[in-house]
Amino acid sequence: MIFRPLLVFVLAGLVLGGCAANPVTGKQNFVMMSEAQEMALGQQASEQIAQQMSMLKDPKLQAYVQRIGTQLANKSHRSGIPYQFNVVDSPDINAFALPGGHIYINRGLLIYLNSEAQMAAVLGHEIGHVTARHGVRQQSIAMGTGLIGQLITIGTGMPAAGDLSNMLGTAMVRGYGRDMELEADGLGAEYLARTGYRPEAVLDVIGALKNQDTYSSQKAAAQGKQVESYHGLFSTHPTHDQRLQQVVAQAQGLTTGDAQRVGRDDYLQMLDGMIYGDSPEQGIVRGQRFLHTELNMVLDYPKGWVILNRPDVLLAHTPDEQGFIALTMENLSNTNVSAEELLRARVGKQRLTQDLAFSGTGYKGFTATIPGDNARRVAAIVRGKQAFLFIGAFRGRGPLELYDEQFVQTIRSFRPLTAADKKNAQPMRIRLVRARQGDTYAKLAKGSPLGDEAEARLRLLNAQWPEGQPKAGQWLKVVR
Ligand SMILES: [Zn+2]
Repeated sequence: MIFRPLLVFVLAGLVLGGCAANPVTGKQNFVMMSEAQEMALGQQASEQIAQQMSMLKDPKLQAYVQRIGTQLANKSHRSGIPYQFNVVDSPDINAFALPGGHIYINRGLLIYLNSEAQMAAVLGHEIGHVTARHGVRQQSIAMGTGLIGQLITIGTGMPAAGDLSNMLGTAMVRGYGRDMELEADGLGAEYLARTGYRPEAVLDVIGALKNQDTYSSQKAAAQGKQVESYHGLFSTHPTHDQRLQQVVAQAQGLTTGDAQRVGRDDYLQMLDGMIYGDSPEQGIVRGQRFLHTELNMVLDYPKGWVILNRPDVLLAHTPDEQGFIALTMENLSNTNVSAEELLRARVGKQRLTQDLAFSGTGYKGFTATIPGDNARRVAAIVRGKQAFLFIGAFRGRGPLELYDEQFVQTIRSFRPLTAADKKNAQPMRIRLVRARQGDTYAKLAKGSPLGDEAEARLRLLNAQWPEGQPKAGQWLKVVR
């Protein structure tokens, strides 16, 4: 949660028309916008992304990703347009491309890769979406920030309850479907080959992400939770997919000479010190507790609830995914406004019942319910210039009473950080170590902040899941 103002981001409904040549096939695509329109759309979308996502503040890494990405783009079917490669400060495993050459890769994906060639495979895949103009071949672009786009606002900022359910499980940007994903993999493999990398790096990446996905599914199933699925990059086809093998084999025919760039050590060094999981700027989830150092706030959620920390909203749901509570934040220009006044202003003409004023260290709060078929629990907390707005609701139509006590309990758990919380809110980081003789993942996992998960996570991070062991002398990623 970085608390940016809500922006409705809807690209649907754009009028697409006319014919334009597809840069990859040279054929005319019927439903396509002109290149100028595409560039304008990409620009607009990238501005929205900049509002809603934080980019990683690591100029060295940023320059590295831009350099490798540009080398690939220069060998692509559309080398004439400018490409921008951005590292997103998000722990989610994802990468995506906007029309017009804006490409994004999350730090959460970078840490699971083990060489420059693998990173190039991801960037090449995304360049493939741009060169084949997948973004503009669809009538509308379903962006994950559509998460926010789907929020209908009541007054000026409270999300409407009915739409909260749509936000769950939505990957940041959905893949483009099997055919387009395969096409992007093929194009990515081709650009790798033309830039001097092994095209098989595409398979390495898909394999690594597939393992990560398998592990997460197993873990979620063991805990009785639903699995969140990620980017189409690997969810649409297994590594042994014949068509995938075919496109990679085709690209192998394009490799020139014996130039086979891998860049394992260089790449790994770039990751040293990178944050693993949540970053303090976005708030950190530790068990059922959410801690935000900059905002000086702590919230405790009931046992078993799942906390989803999104840039614009902190969302949590009950284990059965029927009850949700969302927290948004805004800065007040008028500090004389009371929590009650603010809440009443935000819900507009809707009737409030069960009013209750409450307070805690340094703040005043006000909560009430909006009765009716779609009953909701709402609350506002005001502390100086900061206002925190809560809304608790049901996915469908359910009796609010079922979860209302827990909603109130969560809202009332709001408090500033203690010294112990501040320590607890330190992020975990990736560190590089050289494996010594006799090192095992079990040994490396001892005392890890990742707890029970540590051994499996270390294997996944180092592409040795489920059963590999470190080789002496090899650089390894660990989490400290
Ligand atoms: Zn893709």
